[in-house]
Parts: sequence; structure tokens; C-alpha cells
Amino acid sequence: MLERSFAHEELRALKWRLPLNDDFENYLSRLERGFHGENEFSKKLAAYNEYAHVYDFTFEIDGSTRQIDALLLFNNECVLFEVKNYIGDFIYKNDEFYTYHTMQKISSPIRQLDDTAEKFSAFLYRLGIRCSVRKCVVFINEEFHLYQAPDHRSIITRPQLRRALNQLTRHQRPANSATLELRDTLLKLNIKDTRPAKVLYQYEDLKKGLFCYSDGAVLENYNRVTLICPTCGNKTSIKDAVLQSAQDFNTLFPREKLTIPALYDFSGGLLSKYNLRKALSEACKRHSQARGTYYTFPKR
Ligand SMILES: [Zn+2]
Repeated sequence: MLERSFAHEELRALKWRLPLNDDFENYLSRLERGFHGENEFSKKLAAYNEYAHVYDFTFEIDGSTRQIDALLLFNNECVLFEVKNYIGDFIYKNDEFYTYHTMQKISSPIRQLDDTAEKFSAFLYRLGIRCSVRKCVVFINEEFHLYQAPDHRSIITRPQLRRALNQLTRHQRPANSATLELRDTLLKLNIKDTRPAKVLYQYEDLKKGLFCYSDGAVLENYNRVTLICPTCGNKTSIKDAVLQSAQDFNTLFPREKLTIPALYDFSGGLLSKYNLRKALSEACKRHSQARGTYYTFPKR
């Protein structure tokens, strides 16, 4: 499972606790769609596990930051993938992408990737690594169609994906130690995207409770270890709900200590302090100090 960016976690934590305005709602649904697409792609790429992979690689060069959705590292070549989860009909004309029905121009994912690939080559060069860089834009959604798609090796649509990956890997040997070392170096240099989404909120403004992530309903007790959503009937274990609530608390209030009373209030008082303590003790590190006990999640 890939990690969400900080802004994404933040908006998810706020979605059912605050009325988000339309801009933030749209921003969140773009992030969700993108994340879902990248996850889909990573599942496809997982079948090629004899090669080295890096997902969601963010690097800095000459003061600017670039992000790559997925990297496949061969022993003599790197392949950059930009994953787009577009839905609907598009048309390709004079190197530009347009929506089919309204002919609205959208920013070209190919140009965006060309630029990123150039920066990535320079980045590798500075690490002392010479290897050729290839790039592909993957349109991962089955409901995406590109009219007049160019006969272009760098555009891959969902129906072509398996064949394209087979072709890419056909003459490649499994990752050698130098390639694995390069992957580890990249993982170390990966910059975590910690930019917040810039929503203004205060603790008092937030709705307290444990929420169903699909529809925002407040969860209710089902049995000793399970909660249920009264709207969609989805069941969640108490442990998962507590940990999710605790993660949300940390995301939204990074400077506050995660204590049992704080979490009790934040989660709307549905669960006993015993339940909260039990779930946190299993997953978190416990710190005791004069002013009380607090918990932290292990660093990922
Ligand atoms: Zn629900």
C-alpha cells in the first residue's frame, strides 16, 4: 500500500468533521482518484518483482521539486511512469490533449513527464550514475479513451498495460546488486511531501466521533469488538477505528500529545477509555511522564 501525502491525510481527516468548501472537496477527490490510480498501477507492477521499484519518488534539483509516480529500475535503464486516472473521452491533437466533448485543452501529461525525466537524468548524473531514462504515461482507468492516440511508445492505456510491461521487461535481467543499491539510495533521498492543505480549522470547530469513511455517518456499537455504520452497514473493528481516529488526531494536531482523555473527547465518547487504551497499547509506544501518559505511533 502506498502512503498518502500529508495534505491528503489532512483532508481525509477533515472531510467528515468539518464542512469543507467545494475547492477542498474537489482537491480531495482529485487526490483520492490519483492515489487510487497509483495503487492500481503498483499492483500491476508488483508482478514484475525481479526488478527494483520505487513508488512516489520526490526529489529536489536546483531548488525545484519533482515527483515521479513509479520507477522501474533495470540494470542499465530506468523507466519513469506517470500514472493518470482520467475517466472519459479525450482527443490527441498537435501534441496536445483535449476533452472530447468540450474540446477543452488540458495540460499535457507527456510534456510534464518529459520535463521530469530530464530533471531526473540530471539528478542521477549528480549521484554519479549513468543510465538511460525512459518514460511512459499510463492511463490506468478502464473508462479512459484517447481518440487519435499517437503511435507513441510512451502512452499506455489500460488495455495495453500488460503487453506493454511484458515488452518493457522482455530482455531485462533481474536487478543486480548495483541496481538494488541505487534503489536504496533513492529511497533514502526521497522527500516526504509534508505540505499541508491550507484549510483553517480549530479543535472546537470539528465534529467529534468515529466516522464511516464512505459516507460520514457516526459509527455505533455492534458488539464487544465491532462497530457498525448505521447508513451503509459496514463493520469496522474497534481497534481499527481507534487507531484511525488517533492517526487523524495526530495529523490534525501534530503539536498536541495523544493522550487517552484527548482521544476520548476527539472520538466523541462512544468507546470507553479502557477500549482506547487497549487499542493504543497494541500499536503505539507508551510514554509516561509527570503530566500523564501519552502515545506515539512508530515511525514508518
Ligand atoms: Zn457507512
